Amino acid sequence: MKLSLLACMLIAAGLNTAVVTAQQAEHAQAAVEQKHQHDHDHDHQDEHDHDDDDMPALGAHVHGHAVLTLVLEGNEMQLAFQSAAQSIVGFEHKPRTPEQKQEVAAAIEVFNQAQWFSFNTDANCELVMAEASTDLTEPQANKGHADFYANYQLLCQRPARLDELQLSIFSLVPALEHMDIQWIINGRQGASQAALSSSTVRF
Ligand SMILES: [Zn+2]
Repeated sequence: MKLSLLACMLIAAGLNTAVVTAQQAEHAQAAVEQKHQHDHDHDHQDEHDHDDDDMPALGAHVHGHAVLTLVLEGNEMQLAFQSAAQSIVGFEHKPRTPEQKQEVAAAIEVFNQAQWFSFNTDANCELVMAEASTDLTEPQANKGHADFYANYQLLCQRPARLDELQLSIFSLVPALEHMDIQWIINGRQGASQAALSSSTVRF
């Protein structure tokens, strides 16, 4: 009993020391920045709210970033694109103004037209399906982060010649800074990063 009570007190003392140290550091910082007193519980709550606003809701959701996966089996290619809406239209709430609605529609059009990527011509890949969507037009929009999605199917007449992907998306969508590309091409696989300054991916 005595030992465990002592242990509890030591742990409590240790925790108190840690808490006091953290609070003192916080106070020192607050004093420098704000020059007025803060209620600790209030501070704590503020920090949590702030963190929730800043943290991505999804694993792949990073502002300025997009993910593209490419799978080629035989001569059938599947492309799947996903990006934070922030990287595409610059906001992640439901479009309210006519301008915002137009921006979302224009972005969907860019993805449906599928002109933002191309392959080396001798692979002879032809688009057979394009389908773009966004969380921004879903009923649950405004509940945090939102994404754009685009899925494509292509047929490649000479899949063995496929060795290059050109990305023009960075000039079409300036808010998009970089993209992770993961690919599986008839058993071979790899990963690359692309940006405006390095927009060619070699397989
Ligand atoms: Zn976001």
